[in-house]
Amino acid sequence: QREKLQKPDWLRIKLTTDGNYAEIKEMMRGKTLHTVCEEARCPNIYECWSNRTATFMILGDICTRACRFCAVKTGMPTELDTAEPERVAEAAEQMGLQHCVVTSVARDDLKDGGASIFAATIRAIRKRLPFCRVEVLIPDFMGNWDALQVVMDANPDILNHNIETVERLSDRVRAKAKYKRSLELLRRAKEMKPKIPTKSSIMLGVGEEWDEILQAMDDLRAVDCNILTLGQYLQPTPKHMRIERYVHPDEFKALKEEGKKRGFRHVESGPLVRSSYHAHEQTDSAHAA
Ligand code: SF4
Ligand code: SF4
Repeated sequence: QREKLQKPDWLRIKLTTDGNYAEIKEMMRGKTLHTVCEEARCPNIYECWSNRTATFMILGDICTRACRFCAVKTGMPTELDTAEPERVAEAAEQMGLQHCVVTSVARDDLKDGGASIFAATIRAIRKRLPFCRVEVLIPDFMGNWDALQVVMDANPDILNHNIETVERLSDRVRAKAKYKRSLELLRRAKEMKPKIPTKSSIMLGVGEEWDEILQAMDDLRAVDCNILTLGQYLQPTPKHMRIERYVHPDEFKALKEEGKKRGFRHVESGPLVRSSYHAHEQTDSAHAA
């Protein structure tokens, strides 16, 4: 039995709740929408929601997979809700979003993995908010590249797919996904729409070595991935995969430099960084490049 790791100071967050947070929470319930901010117990929720930024989770809140780091519920998903894209767009409009992130659970039970609903959501947001940037964070669609094409044809402003960890740990951390398949997805997305920036994320503190992180960065650059986010893994409940170590903020800084040297247009790297954290700024620099 290993001693429990002590949470370092840099991960203690000041909780500031203001009116916006409660107001948005209320609205989400009213529209029966789910956000990854809540489902994944993201530590930035107060900051982001108070700034009227949120990541919508479409296709229900029950996932067909059970990655060992993830707090989303696993089981048989609910029936497909074709009215969901419109409700997401309505909520995005009410929040006056300038940058909207849309992600989903993995729907391996659906033929297209939910790609058509992603595409419909992008279009619905565009219709209501023509100037809002739409970022999609998609599952791997089990390697169904026609499904990927459906999403790319809806022209998201940014295509995000997370490799989550280094190659050696991939099978253990996200059982039904494959490291190489995720790279292949990013490669194909770029091939389909070369102008759309691609993005990926690695969580640290799950047992990866320094050289393996650099290798993962090289692998991402080899498929011309443009934006990288690096953050600390936090164990959502005691049943989830344990934290191997807390990565020091200085290491995050050094990794940011390594990423920039490798040609990523933007690297967001820090203990509390999540895929959609400061997403608006990430895209700004990716588009400016
Ligand atoms: Fe939500 Fe992303 Fe902000 Fe976390 S970082 S609260 S998931 S928008
Ligand atoms: Fe969580 Fe995504 Fe894995 Fe499902 S596929 S368990 S939502 S990380």
